Amino acid sequence: MTQGICRLCKKSQDLKLSHFIPKFVGKWVKDTSATGYIRFNQSIDKRAQDIVKEYWLCECCEQLFSSWEHEFARKVFYPFMDKGESRARYDVWLSKFCASLTWRTLTYVRSLHVEKSDDVSRSLDAAENTLAGYLLGESTVLGKYEQHLFPLESIAETNVRGAPPNLNRYFLRTMQMDLLESESGSIIYTKLPGFLLLGLTGHKESNSMRSSRVTMGEGMLSPRSYRWPTGLAEYMFEKSRQITATYSSMSQAQKDKITKTILDNPDRFRSSRTYEAFKHDLDMFGNKAFSKKDEV
Ligand SMILES: [Zn+2]
Repeated sequence: MTQGICRLCKKSQDLKLSHFIPKFVGKWVKDTSATGYIRFNQSIDKRAQDIVKEYWLCECCEQLFSSWEHEFARKVFYPFMDKGESRARYDVWLSKFCASLTWRTLTYVRSLHVEKSDDVSRSLDAAENTLAGYLLGESTVLGKYEQHLFPLESIAETNVRGAPPNLNRYFLRTMQMDLLESESGSIIYTKLPGFLLLGLTGHKESNSMRSSRVTMGEGMLSPRSYRWPTGLAEYMFEKSRQITATYSSMSQAQKDKITKTILDNPDRFRSSRTYEAFKHDLDMFGNKAFSKKDEV
Protein backbone atom coordinates (compact mmCIF):
# COMPACT_ATOMS: atom_id res chain seq x y z
CA MET A 1 0.00 0.00 0.00
CA THR A 2 1.04 3.54 -0.58
CA GLN A 3 -0.36 6.90 0.49
CA GLY A 4 -1.81 9.16 -2.21
CA ILE A 5 -4.87 10.80 -3.74
CA CYS A 6 -7.54 8.34 -4.86
CA ARG A 7 -8.19 8.99 -8.56
CA LEU A 8 -11.93 8.52 -8.13
CA CYS A 9 -13.02 10.09 -4.82
CA LYS A 10 -10.01 12.47 -4.72
CA LYS A 11 -9.43 11.86 -1.00
CA SER A 12 -5.97 11.33 0.44
CA GLN A 13 -5.92 7.66 1.40
CA ASP A 14 -3.94 4.45 1.44
CA LEU A 15 -4.09 3.34 -2.18
CA LYS A 16 -4.59 -0.20 -3.40
CA LEU A 17 -2.96 -1.73 -6.42
CA SER A 18 -5.87 -1.64 -8.92
CA HIS A 19 -6.30 -3.64 -12.10
CA PHE A 20 -7.51 -1.77 -15.17
CA ILE A 21 -8.83 -4.76 -17.03
CA PRO A 22 -10.61 -6.61 -14.17
CA LYS A 23 -8.52 -9.30 -12.53
CA PHE A 24 -11.02 -12.08 -13.24
CA VAL A 25 -10.72 -11.39 -16.98
CA GLY A 26 -6.91 -11.68 -16.93
CA LYS A 27 -7.21 -14.87 -14.93
CA TRP A 28 -9.70 -16.32 -17.40
CA VAL A 29 -7.39 -15.56 -20.35
CA LYS A 30 -4.45 -17.15 -18.55
CA ASP A 31 -6.41 -20.23 -17.45
CA THR A 32 -7.84 -20.85 -20.92
CA SER A 33 -4.62 -20.16 -22.85
CA ALA A 34 -2.41 -22.78 -24.45
CA THR A 35 0.59 -21.96 -22.27
CA GLY A 36 -0.80 -20.52 -19.04
CA TYR A 37 0.71 -17.10 -19.70
CA ILE A 38 -0.44 -13.76 -21.06
CA ARG A 39 1.67 -11.69 -23.41
CA PHE A 40 1.32 -7.99 -23.96
CA ASN A 41 2.08 -6.38 -27.25
CA GLN A 42 4.31 -3.82 -25.59
CA SER A 43 6.62 -6.46 -24.15
CA ILE A 44 6.10 -9.39 -26.42
CA ASP A 45 9.32 -11.11 -25.34
CA LYS A 46 8.20 -11.23 -21.74
CA ARG A 47 5.60 -13.51 -20.29
CA ALA A 48 3.39 -11.41 -18.08
CA GLN A 49 2.20 -13.00 -14.86
CA ASP A 50 -0.49 -10.42 -14.44
CA ILE A 51 -2.20 -7.61 -16.27
CA VAL A 52 -1.43 -3.92 -15.90
CA LYS A 53 -2.08 -2.45 -12.45
CA GLU A 54 -1.25 0.79 -10.63
CA TYR A 55 -1.89 2.46 -7.27
CA TRP A 56 -5.10 4.12 -8.37
CA LEU A 57 -7.98 3.70 -5.91
CA CYS A 58 -8.64 3.71 -2.18
CA GLU A 59 -10.09 0.65 -0.47
CA CYS A 60 -13.58 2.11 -0.51
CA CYS A 61 -13.63 2.84 -4.26
CA GLU A 62 -11.97 -0.50 -5.01
CA GLN A 63 -14.80 -2.24 -3.11
CA LEU A 64 -17.39 -0.25 -5.03
CA PHE A 65 -15.94 -1.44 -8.36
CA SER A 66 -15.53 -5.03 -7.27
CA SER A 67 -19.22 -5.45 -6.40
CA TRP A 68 -20.26 -4.55 -9.99
CA GLU A 69 -17.43 -6.63 -11.41
CA HIS A 70 -18.64 -9.62 -9.47
CA GLU A 71 -22.17 -9.31 -10.92
CA PHE A 72 -20.84 -9.00 -14.47
CA ALA A 73 -18.49 -11.98 -14.03
CA ARG A 74 -21.18 -14.23 -12.59
CA LYS A 75 -24.18 -13.22 -14.69
CA VAL A 76 -22.63 -12.32 -18.04
CA PHE A 77 -18.96 -13.11 -18.59
CA TYR A 78 -18.70 -16.74 -17.43
CA PRO A 79 -22.13 -17.84 -18.79
CA PHE A 80 -21.33 -16.32 -22.21
CA MET A 81 -17.70 -17.42 -22.43
CA ASP A 82 -17.83 -20.83 -20.75
CA LYS A 83 -21.38 -22.04 -21.38
CA GLY A 84 -22.13 -20.43 -24.74
CA GLU A 85 -25.11 -18.49 -23.44
CA SER A 86 -26.15 -15.42 -25.37
CA ARG A 87 -28.86 -13.89 -23.16
CA ALA A 88 -28.66 -12.29 -19.77
CA ARG A 89 -30.96 -10.11 -17.72
CA TYR A 90 -29.27 -7.20 -16.06
CA ASP A 91 -29.97 -4.43 -13.65
CA VAL A 92 -28.26 -1.15 -12.81
CA TRP A 93 -25.02 -3.00 -11.99
CA LEU A 94 -24.29 -3.42 -15.71
CA SER A 95 -24.40 0.28 -16.38
CA LYS A 96 -22.21 0.85 -13.29
CA PHE A 97 -19.76 -1.85 -14.35
CA CYS A 98 -19.50 -0.47 -17.89
CA ALA A 99 -19.03 3.08 -16.61
CA SER A 100 -16.32 1.88 -14.22
CA LEU A 101 -14.48 0.06 -17.00
CA THR A 102 -14.72 3.11 -19.28
CA TRP A 103 -13.50 5.34 -16.45
CA ARG A 104 -10.52 3.04 -15.86
CA THR A 105 -9.59 2.97 -19.55
CA LEU A 106 -9.98 6.74 -19.83
CA THR A 107 -7.87 7.56 -16.77
CA TYR A 108 -5.24 4.94 -17.58
CA VAL A 109 -4.75 5.88 -21.24
CA ARG A 110 -4.65 9.58 -20.32
CA SER A 111 -2.00 8.87 -17.68
CA LEU A 112 0.27 7.67 -20.51
CA HIS A 113 0.38 11.33 -21.65
CA VAL A 114 -0.92 10.75 -25.12
CA GLU A 115 -0.97 14.17 -26.81
CA LYS A 116 -4.45 15.53 -27.43
CA SER A 117 -5.66 18.92 -28.61
CA ASP A 118 -7.07 21.36 -26.01
CA ASP A 119 -10.61 20.78 -27.26
CA VAL A 120 -10.27 17.03 -26.93
CA SER A 121 -8.67 17.36 -23.48
CA ARG A 122 -11.55 19.52 -22.26
CA SER A 123 -14.10 17.06 -23.58
CA LEU A 124 -12.26 14.16 -21.91
CA ASP A 125 -12.10 16.09 -18.60
CA ALA A 126 -15.87 16.51 -18.77
CA ALA A 127 -16.32 12.80 -19.53
CA GLU A 128 -14.10 11.87 -16.58
CA ASN A 129 -16.05 14.13 -14.19
CA THR A 130 -19.46 12.85 -15.31
CA LEU A 131 -18.38 9.22 -15.06
CA ALA A 132 -16.85 9.79 -11.60
CA GLY A 133 -20.01 11.52 -10.33
CA TYR A 134 -22.11 8.61 -11.57
CA LEU A 135 -19.80 5.96 -10.08
CA LEU A 136 -19.72 7.71 -6.70
CA GLY A 137 -23.52 7.91 -6.66
CA GLU A 138 -23.58 11.71 -6.81
CA SER A 139 -25.71 11.50 -9.94
CA THR A 140 -27.92 8.81 -11.47
CA VAL A 141 -27.53 9.72 -15.13
CA LEU A 142 -24.75 9.62 -17.71
CA GLY A 143 -26.37 11.83 -20.35
CA LYS A 144 -24.38 11.76 -23.58
CA TYR A 145 -21.71 9.51 -22.03
CA GLU A 146 -23.56 6.39 -23.15
CA GLN A 147 -22.11 2.93 -22.58
CA HIS A 148 -22.40 0.49 -25.51
CA LEU A 149 -21.70 -3.18 -24.90
CA PHE A 150 -21.27 -5.60 -27.82
CA PRO A 151 -21.04 -9.36 -27.17
CA LEU A 152 -18.62 -10.74 -29.78
CA GLU A 153 -19.15 -14.30 -30.96
CA SER A 154 -16.94 -16.26 -33.28
CA ILE A 155 -17.75 -15.41 -36.87
CA ALA A 156 -17.71 -17.65 -39.91
CA GLU A 157 -17.97 -14.95 -42.55
CA THR A 158 -18.03 -11.21 -42.98
CA ASN A 159 -19.19 -8.93 -45.73
CA VAL A 160 -16.68 -6.27 -44.72
CA ARG A 161 -13.66 -6.27 -47.01
CA GLY A 162 -10.16 -6.68 -45.67
CA ALA A 163 -10.91 -8.80 -42.59
CA PRO A 164 -7.58 -10.09 -41.21
CA PRO A 165 -7.10 -13.86 -40.75
CA ASN A 166 -6.76 -13.63 -36.95
CA LEU A 167 -10.08 -11.80 -36.44
CA ASN A 168 -11.70 -14.52 -34.33
CA ARG A 169 -8.68 -14.60 -32.08
CA TYR A 170 -8.93 -10.81 -31.71
CA PHE A 171 -12.64 -11.04 -30.88
CA LEU A 172 -12.39 -13.96 -28.48
CA ARG A 173 -8.99 -13.56 -26.78
CA THR A 174 -7.68 -10.00 -26.82
CA MET A 175 -7.70 -7.39 -24.03
CA GLN A 176 -7.09 -3.80 -25.08
CA MET A 177 -7.65 -0.21 -23.92
CA ASP A 178 -7.57 2.86 -26.18
CA LEU A 179 -8.98 6.32 -26.84
CA LEU A 180 -10.25 6.83 -30.39
CA GLU A 181 -10.72 10.22 -31.99
CA SER A 182 -12.89 10.95 -34.98
CA GLU A 183 -14.90 13.78 -36.49
CA SER A 184 -17.97 12.30 -34.78
CA GLY A 185 -16.51 12.39 -31.26
CA SER A 186 -14.09 10.59 -28.93
CA ILE A 187 -14.73 6.93 -28.10
CA ILE A 188 -13.30 5.24 -25.00
CA TYR A 189 -12.47 1.76 -26.22
CA THR A 190 -12.22 -1.27 -23.91
CA LYS A 191 -11.83 -4.71 -25.44
CA LEU A 192 -12.37 -7.81 -23.30
CA PRO A 193 -12.31 -11.39 -24.58
CA GLY A 194 -15.76 -11.88 -26.16
CA PHE A 195 -16.94 -8.33 -25.47
CA LEU A 196 -16.37 -4.82 -26.73
CA LEU A 197 -17.32 -1.80 -24.64
CA LEU A 198 -17.53 1.66 -26.21
CA GLY A 199 -17.88 4.68 -23.94
CA LEU A 200 -19.25 7.54 -26.01
CA THR A 201 -18.63 11.19 -25.19
CA GLY A 202 -21.41 12.56 -27.36
CA HIS A 203 -21.31 10.91 -30.78
CA LYS A 204 -23.02 11.90 -34.02
CA GLU A 205 -24.10 8.31 -34.71
CA SER A 206 -25.40 7.44 -31.23
CA ASN A 207 -29.04 7.55 -32.40
CA SER A 208 -28.46 4.72 -34.83
CA MET A 209 -26.61 2.62 -32.21
CA ARG A 210 -29.53 2.07 -29.84
CA SER A 211 -29.35 -1.74 -29.88
CA SER A 212 -25.98 -1.81 -28.09
CA ARG A 213 -26.75 0.87 -25.49
CA VAL A 214 -26.72 -0.33 -21.90
CA THR A 215 -29.82 1.04 -20.17
CA MET A 216 -29.47 2.68 -16.76
CA GLY A 217 -31.69 0.12 -15.03
CA GLU A 218 -33.10 -3.28 -15.97
CA GLY A 219 -32.45 -4.65 -19.42
CA MET A 220 -31.61 -7.69 -21.46
CA LEU A 221 -28.50 -8.67 -23.39
CA SER A 222 -29.54 -10.82 -26.33
CA PRO A 223 -28.52 -11.60 -29.91
CA ARG A 224 -29.58 -8.71 -32.13
CA SER A 225 -28.41 -6.66 -35.00
CA TYR A 226 -25.73 -4.25 -33.81
CA ARG A 227 -24.35 -1.23 -35.56
CA TRP A 228 -20.76 -0.13 -35.08
CA PRO A 229 -19.81 3.50 -35.56
CA THR A 230 -18.22 4.35 -38.91
CA GLY A 231 -14.56 3.37 -39.06
CA LEU A 232 -14.66 1.00 -36.09
CA ALA A 233 -14.45 -2.23 -38.11
CA GLU A 234 -11.38 -0.89 -39.93
CA TYR A 235 -9.83 0.09 -36.58
CA MET A 236 -10.34 -3.43 -35.20
CA PHE A 237 -8.93 -4.99 -38.37
CA GLU A 238 -5.85 -2.79 -38.05
CA LYS A 239 -5.37 -3.78 -34.39
CA SER A 240 -5.68 -7.46 -35.31
CA ARG A 241 -3.03 -7.01 -38.02
CA GLN A 242 -0.70 -5.24 -35.58
CA ILE A 243 -0.94 -8.21 -33.21
CA THR A 244 0.12 -10.55 -36.02
CA ALA A 245 3.02 -8.23 -36.87
CA THR A 246 4.12 -8.04 -33.23
CA TYR A 247 4.06 -11.79 -32.80
CA SER A 248 6.02 -12.33 -35.96
CA SER A 249 8.71 -10.00 -34.59
CA MET A 250 9.09 -12.12 -31.46
CA SER A 251 12.65 -13.41 -30.87
CA GLN A 252 13.53 -16.96 -31.87
CA ALA A 253 14.29 -17.81 -28.23
CA GLN A 254 10.75 -16.85 -27.24
CA LYS A 255 9.26 -18.78 -30.15
CA ASP A 256 11.24 -21.83 -29.05
CA LYS A 257 9.99 -21.41 -25.51
CA ILE A 258 6.38 -21.45 -26.72
CA THR A 259 6.96 -24.51 -28.88
CA LYS A 260 8.53 -26.30 -25.94
CA THR A 261 5.65 -25.39 -23.60
CA ILE A 262 3.16 -26.78 -26.11
CA LEU A 263 5.17 -29.97 -26.77
CA ASP A 264 5.52 -30.52 -23.03
CA ASN A 265 1.76 -30.42 -22.60
CA PRO A 266 -0.06 -31.04 -25.90
CA ASP A 267 -3.34 -31.89 -24.15
CA ARG A 268 -3.49 -28.46 -22.59
CA PHE A 269 -2.90 -26.91 -26.01
CA ARG A 270 -5.63 -28.95 -27.72
CA SER A 271 -8.21 -28.20 -25.05
CA SER A 272 -7.30 -24.49 -24.76
CA ARG A 273 -9.54 -21.64 -25.86
CA THR A 274 -6.57 -20.18 -27.76
CA TYR A 275 -6.65 -23.22 -30.02
CA GLU A 276 -10.45 -23.07 -30.31
CA ALA A 277 -10.31 -19.42 -31.45
CA PHE A 278 -7.58 -20.35 -33.91
CA LYS A 279 -9.80 -23.10 -35.37
CA HIS A 280 -12.57 -20.55 -36.01
CA ASP A 281 -10.04 -18.50 -37.99
CA LEU A 282 -8.95 -21.60 -39.86
CA ASP A 283 -12.60 -22.35 -40.81
CA MET A 284 -13.12 -18.81 -42.00
CA PHE A 285 -9.82 -18.00 -43.66
CA GLY A 286 -8.24 -21.36 -44.49
CA ASN A 287 -4.46 -21.53 -44.54
CA LYS A 288 -4.12 -17.76 -44.29
CA ALA A 289 -4.86 -18.21 -40.58
CA PHE A 290 -1.46 -19.89 -40.30
CA SER A 291 0.51 -17.02 -41.75
CA LYS A 292 2.34 -15.84 -38.64
CA LYS A 293 3.15 -16.84 -35.12
CA ASP A 294 -0.04 -16.83 -33.10
CA GLU A 295 -1.13 -15.88 -29.66
CA VAL A 296 -0.31 -18.71 -27.31
ZN1 LIG B 1 -11.55 6.59 -3.36
